[in-house]
Amino acid sequence: ALVVRRQMQSSGKWAKAEAILRELEDKCGAPTAKLQQVADAMTVEMHAGLASEGGSKLKMLISYVDNLPTGDETGLFYALDLGGTNFRVMRVQLGGKEGVIKQESEEVSIPPHLMVGSSHELFDFIATALAKFVATEGEEFHLPAGKQRELGFTFSFPIRQLSLASGTLIKWTKGFLIEDAVGEDVVEELTKAMERVNLDMRVAALVNDTVGTLAGGKYSNPDVIAAVILGTGSNAAYVERAHAIPKWQGLPPKTGEMVINMEWGNFRSSHLPLTEYDISLDAESLNPGEQLLCRRTCVRLLSFFFWLMEQIFEKLVSGMYLGEIVRRVLCRMAEEASFFGDIIPPKLKIPFILRTPDMSAMHHDSSSDLKVVGSKLKDILEVPNSSLKMRKMIIEICDIVTSRGARLAAAGVLGILKKIGRDTLKEGDNQKSVIALDGGLFEHYTEFRNCMSSTLKELLGEVAEYIVIELANDGSGIGAALLAASHSQYLEVQES
Ligand code: BGC
Ligand code: MG
Repeated sequence: ALVVRRQMQSSGKWAKAEAILRELEDKCGAPTAKLQQVADAMTVEMHAGLASEGGSKLKMLISYVDNLPTGDETGLFYALDLGGTNFRVMRVQLGGKEGVIKQESEEVSIPPHLMVGSSHELFDFIATALAKFVATEGEEFHLPAGKQRELGFTFSFPIRQLSLASGTLIKWTKGFLIEDAVGEDVVEELTKAMERVNLDMRVAALVNDTVGTLAGGKYSNPDVIAAVILGTGSNAAYVERAHAIPKWQGLPPKTGEMVINMEWGNFRSSHLPLTEYDISLDAESLNPGEQLLCRRTCVRLLSFFFWLMEQIFEKLVSGMYLGEIVRRVLCRMAEEASFFGDIIPPKLKIPFILRTPDMSAMHHDSSSDLKVVGSKLKDILEVPNSSLKMRKMIIEICDIVTSRGARLAAAGVLGILKKIGRDTLKEGDNQKSVIALDGGLFEHYTEFRNCMSSTLKELLGEVAEYIVIELANDGSGIGAALLAASHSQYLEVQES
C-alpha cells in the first residue's frame, strides 16, 4: 500500500508540474497572428511617440544624429561605452577612405556597488579608467599638436537630448540605479570627472548604443537602416524622415533624416503574451512600475497590473531577465509540485541566481543524459540529483521562455519595417534593408538567434529575401568614434 501511495504521490507531482508547464506554454504562446498584432501595435506607438513628447510609452527619442558617417572621417578619436556589465574604452585612428587604420580597446568591469551608488563615484571611476587608457596611447596614433582629444560617449540608457553633445538621463534601466544622476546632463558629469583627473578631453557626441551601432553599421554597409540591441537590455534605433517627426521643433536637417532612438524596451501592448512570472519579476525589479500594496497578492489580475509595468518589452526579451523568468517558474514548480522533492532548494529563492548564459548552456545541452543541465542544477541551485525527466522539463521551460522573447523581438523588427514601408515588395525597387544587430544574447544564445531569424521569415514571407540581419559585433564603439569625428570641433577649420 505504501508503494502504491508513493507512486500515486509521485505521479500526482508530475501531473502538477506538467500542468504548470502547459500553462506557461499557453500563456507565452506567440502565434503568427499575434505577432502581427504586436508589430502593428509597435507601428502605432511609433507614430504616437513621434507625434508629441509623452505621446506614447515608446519615447522615440531624437538623437540629433542627422547624418551618418560618410567614410571621409579622419583623425584620432576616443570612444567610451557604458551600459551593460562592462564598460569599454577605445581609440581609433580613422583614415578617411582607408577606413579604420588602427584601433585599440580595453574592457573594464564595473564593480556592482558602483551601479547603485552615487553619480560622482561612477563617473570618477570611468574617468580614471579612461585617463589610464589614454596614457597608453602609442606612437601609431596621431593627434596634431595643440589639438584636444575628442570622445564619442555611448551611454546605453534613455537620455533626452537638445544637442548631439549633451543629454539628461531620463531613467536608469537594467542593473543600474543611481538616483542622483537622474535628470542630470551625463556629458557634464563626465566632463567634470575628467577635469578632476586632469584628463583634457572633449565629449563631441553622446549616443545611445543603438545609435552608435547604427552609425558603425552604416559605415561598413550603406544598406543598414536600423540597429537592434539584444543583450543585457534591448532597444532599437532607425533612420526616420524628418517630416515624419511632428514633435521635432528644430530646423529641418539638411539630409532630411534623423536617427530615432526608440527605447523599445518600454513598449507595451495588450497583445503581449504575459504571465504571472513577468508581473512579479517587474514588481521586484530595480525599476518596477507603479507600486500598489496589494500588488503581489493580486498578480493574477494580469490585465490590470500590466498597465503598471515598466520596461515590459525589455523584461520579456532581454538577457538580463530570461534566466530570472525561468527561475521563477522553477520556484513555483518547487513550491506547488515538489519538483525538487520535499524541500525547496534555498538557492532557488535568490533572485537572478540563474543567469541567462547558464540557461543558454542548459538549453543547448545535446548530451543524451542532459548532463549539462544536471551539473548546472548542482552548481547553481545545489540540487545534487536530478532525473532525466526533470532535466527535460527544464529544457522545455528554457525553450518556451526563449521562443517567446525571440519571436517578440522579431515582431519588433517587423514593426520598424512597417513604419518605414520596407515590409512589402515594391515594383522595380527592392532594395536590401539591413538591420545591424548587437548584444550578447543574440550573439551567444544560438536557439534565440535561430528562432528570431526563422520567425522573421515566417512574418515577412517573400519579403524576407530583402531583409538581412547582420551581426554588428561591438559596432557601437566605432560608431560613437565616427560620430565624434563628424562632429569634431576642428572640422570647420579643416574644411576651410
Ligand atoms: C536601455 C537602452 C539601451 C538598451 C540596450 C535598455 O535598457 O534603456 O537605452 O539601448 O538597454 O543596451
Ligand atoms: Mg553594449
